[in-house]
Amino acid sequence: MTNKELFEAAQRIIPGGVNSPVRAFRKVGGVPRFMAQGSGPFLTDAEGKRYIDFVLSWGPLILGHCHPAVVEAVRRQAGIGMSYGAPTDLEVEMAALVCEAFPAMDKVRFVSSGTEATMSAIRLARAATGRQVTVKFEGCYHGHADSLLVKAGSGLLTLGVPDSSGIPENVASTTAVLPYNDTAAFGEFMDSRGTEVASVIVEPVAGNMGVVLPRKGFLQSIRAKTKACGSLLIFDEVITGFRFRFGGYQELAGITPDLTCLGKIVGGGMPAAAFGGRADLMDQLSPNGPVYQAGTLSGNPLAMAAGIAALKVLKDSDPYAGLDRTMASFTSGLEELAKKAGIALAVNRVGSMAGVFFRQGPVETFDDVMASDASRYTRFFHAMLERGVYLAPSPFEAAFVSTAHTAEVMGQALEAAAGAFDEIRT
Ligand code: PMP
Repeated sequence: MTNKELFEAAQRIIPGGVNSPVRAFRKVGGVPRFMAQGSGPFLTDAEGKRYIDFVLSWGPLILGHCHPAVVEAVRRQAGIGMSYGAPTDLEVEMAALVCEAFPAMDKVRFVSSGTEATMSAIRLARAATGRQVTVKFEGCYHGHADSLLVKAGSGLLTLGVPDSSGIPENVASTTAVLPYNDTAAFGEFMDSRGTEVASVIVEPVAGNMGVVLPRKGFLQSIRAKTKACGSLLIFDEVITGFRFRFGGYQELAGITPDLTCLGKIVGGGMPAAAFGGRADLMDQLSPNGPVYQAGTLSGNPLAMAAGIAALKVLKDSDPYAGLDRTMASFTSGLEELAKKAGIALAVNRVGSMAGVFFRQGPVETFDDVMASDASRYTRFFHAMLERGVYLAPSPFEAAFVSTAHTAEVMGQALEAAAGAFDEIRT
């Protein structure tokens, strides 16, 4: 079947034809590509067209598609048991790897999605502090738990309102949404309401509004204020964990959060995520403590096998300097090409993760992101797709590269970009 036929069939029996909304291409229009195969840096769709993949399953596939060590681990485990509903040695090995990589984690618990990790972490923070309020930042995404699908209320000191239908107002009103990278606004909020705040959750590098780097001092001020107010700091490193180093952005920033959430890379492409932190906090979880949290498939052996294999490759091969070079030369190539074509383009990059915005830089806030030219991104996206490059089907998502993105492949992607910029310059 063609992509179009599959999409039509899918829409009849799956809402919007997809199991996660961004895949439906609504932000860019057109027919979503139904993928049939992945291999290294490539995806192949149902019609046999091959793409260089810069989405990489939205971040997990730092080793590319079908890395042999990961495939072998999953194959082996599938032959001896896909789920036991009982503890395994794999969970012990995986927990040791994660806790070694994240010194701030004395203990870790595995779950199946980033949503579960953040939802559980904020519940634990509420229990540990005896407080209700969660603070998040505009443009950061932490999954789709009720209290995190919230947008800013009418004033900075007001608590949030639902950002989705079906979320009770009284749940949304336990979350405050503040501007990312605005240290003064955060300070003002904490000075007046800090004693109500159970936790502050933040993506240390924002990866869900394109890529926006924390301004100097922003994360440090959050750490200092949360400590002063007796609130817990949760770093949502679902994207950033294991992305820039064998560990978290927290180490690069020199900040120790109270709790950390992981996902994506940690599962090696399988559904696994995690949250962890100080032992005194984590021991408040059931069965040791009063905070209930559970999962039929938590710590699933296939997911653990994939995660262990991926983490071991990362630990042993330390590919991070190479990944950084790959993305750095790609983004500087893009900047040059855009300049030549007379197109305003701002690029934000940390290591192998980058966001492009069709506007003049700098892009440091949610408002800066929103002021970029989304319709130009749409045209660029389709021009690249046509040329065999798969970018995120939304202007507000990150691009990633993997260890499988060779210089030759990146050269082909830049060639495509040259053609795409040329096509969209008018
Ligand atoms: N936190 C962050 C920073 C994310 O980017 C995401 C998903 N993109 C989540 C949490 C939620 O993870 P999941 O989709 O696995 O529920």
